[in-house]
Amino acid sequence: MILRLILGDQLNINHSWFDEKNQENYLYVLMELRSETDYVKHHTKKITAFFAAMRNFSEQLSKKGLNVHYFKINDPQNQQSFKGNIQYLINRFPIAAIHYQYPDEYRLYHEFKTFKATFTIEIKTYESEHFYCTLNEIVLLGKEKKYELLENFYRFLRKKNNVLMAQDKPLGGKWNFDSNNRNQWKNQVVIPEMLDFKNDVSTIINDLKTAKIQSFGEESIVSNLPINRTQALAQFTYFLTYLLPHFGTYQDAMHSQERILFHSNLSFALNVKMLNPKEIVALTESHFYENQDQVALAQVEGFIRQIIGWREYIRMMYWNKFQELKRGNYFEHKNTLPEVYWTGKSKMNCVATCAKNSLDTAYAHHIQRLMILGNFALLMETNPSEVDDWYLGVYADAVEWVQLPNTRGMSQFAEGGIIATKPYISSSNYIDKMSNYCSQCSFDKKTKYEENSCPFNSLYWNFLEKNRTKLAQNQRMKMMYALLNKIDKTELERIIIKAENLIENRNF
Ligand code: FAD
Ligand code: SF4
Repeated sequence: MILRLILGDQLNINHSWFDEKNQENYLYVLMELRSETDYVKHHTKKITAFFAAMRNFSEQLSKKGLNVHYFKINDPQNQQSFKGNIQYLINRFPIAAIHYQYPDEYRLYHEFKTFKATFTIEIKTYESEHFYCTLNEIVLLGKEKKYELLENFYRFLRKKNNVLMAQDKPLGGKWNFDSNNRNQWKNQVVIPEMLDFKNDVSTIINDLKTAKIQSFGEESIVSNLPINRTQALAQFTYFLTYLLPHFGTYQDAMHSQERILFHSNLSFALNVKMLNPKEIVALTESHFYENQDQVALAQVEGFIRQIIGWREYIRMMYWNKFQELKRGNYFEHKNTLPEVYWTGKSKMNCVATCAKNSLDTAYAHHIQRLMILGNFALLMETNPSEVDDWYLGVYADAVEWVQLPNTRGMSQFAEGGIIATKPYISSSNYIDKMSNYCSQCSFDKKTKYEENSCPFNSLYWNFLEKNRTKLAQNQRMKMMYALLNKIDKTELERIIIKAENLIENRNF
C-alpha cells in the first residue's frame, strides 16, 4: 500500500492522482495538526475554514470509493506531526512507499526532505499541478533578471499560455489597461448582495476549544468563505456575472459600507486549490468572448493579470528571494504593531474600518491590505516580523508563499525594493481620492501638524525625510522628494514633531 499525503492547501480534486487505476493500492492521508495551527496565532475563521475544507475534501474522496485516513485534531492517535502520524500508519498498515506533492512553502519543503532519512521506504514527489509553472520552472525563471519585473513575467506567461492573445499580439493591442482602474466607487453601480454560504463550523470550534488552540476571533458560522468546490464555483459564477464587468474600474476603490466591492473573493478557494488558476483564467476568457456586449476587455485583462501575473509572480519571488524577504528590514524598523490591528478601534476611520473588516471576516481586499493597513504599519515604523505575523494570522488566504512577498516585500519594502520599485506609502490625499473614509473621520484630512490633523499626513512626510538617503535617488520617488523639498523648514520641523509624537504615544 502507498501512503499519499495531502496537505490542507492541496485540496485539488482534479489532481492526476485521483485518475489513476488501481486506487485500492493507495491510502490518502489528511492531518489536522498542532504544528500547523500553532506556528503563528491565527484567526479562528482561518483555522475553521481550512479544517472544514479539508473535512469536506476527505468526504469527497471517500465518496469516490478511495481509501482515506483523516486525523482530526483531537483524535487520540493523532501524533500532531507529519512524521509522527506517518510512522503511526506505517506501524499499522503495510505501507511500502510515501508519495507527496511539493508543499508551497519552505517550512514544509525542508521538513519533507528529511522523510528520506527518517523512513526506510520509497519516497516519491509530485507536482501539485496547480500553478502555471512547475516548481523547477519557477526557480529557473526566477534566475533571469528580466522576470523580476512583473510586467515582463506577466507577458511571458500570457504568450506562453496563449491567454488574451491575437496571434502573437496582446488582444486589444495593449498588454495592460491599468490606467482605467483608478475610480472611486460612489454607488454608481449597484452591487448585488454577496453570497452567504452560512457554513456552520460549530463542531470545529468545539474541537479547537477542546484542543486548547490559541486563536483570535470566534464565529460558529463562516458566511463569506467557500469551503468546498461547489461553493467556490458558485462564488466564481457570481463574480463573473455581477462583478467582473466593473472589476478593473473599481479595483483600487475602498468604501466603508462595501467590504469586497468588485473583487472576486476567490483567494481562499484558490490557495487551498479547490479552484485551479488555469480553469479560472480559461473560464473568464471564454466568458468574455461570449459576452463582449456586457464585459469589456479592460476589466477582463485586469482580473486575469491578478491571477496569471501577480499570483504566479509572487510565487516566483517567494521561491527565489526567500532569504532576502524573510530577513529583510531595510528601514530597521523596531516598533510594535499598533493596537488597532488587534482591536479594530481607532479614531482613524480608514485604519479602524480595514482592521475591523479583517478581524470580522478574515478578508480584506488588496488596496485595504496595501494602502491602508500596510501603509500605516510602515509609516509607524513597525518591525516587519510583527507585520508578517499579523497578516499570516488574520487572513484566511494567508499561506507563507503568497503572504511573505506581499507583506514584507510589496507593502513594507523590507527587502529594499526587489518586488516593489518604491515603497507603497501615501498621505490622506490618496486615501481620500479612492474612498469615502475621510468624509466620516474625526481627523482633518487637510492639515499636517495641528492637534486634529490626519496622522497619515505628518507620518508620510516624516518617513520621506527620515529615509532620504535610502530613497531620494529612486527615480520613482523624485516627485515626492521634489514636493518634500518645497516644504518650509519650520513647517517640516512641526510635521516631524507631530509624527514622532504619534509614533511614540499612539494617540489616534
Ligand atoms: P481579487 O482582487 O479578486 O484578485 C483575484 C485573485 O488574484 C486573488 O484571489 C488572488 O489569488 C490573486 N491576486 C491578486 N493580487 C495578488 C497578489 N498581490 N499576490 C498574489 N495573488 C494575488 N493574497 C493571498 O492570497 N494571500 C495572502 O496572504 C495575501 N497577503 C497579502 C498581504 C498584503 C500586504 C497585500 C498587499 C496583499 C496580499 N495578498 C494576499 C494579495 C491580495 O491582496 C489578495 O490575494 C486579495 O486581496 C484576495 O482577494 P480577492 O480574492 O477578492 O482578490
Ligand atoms: Fe484616514 Fe486620515 Fe482620512 Fe481619517 S482623515 S480616514 S485618518 S486618511
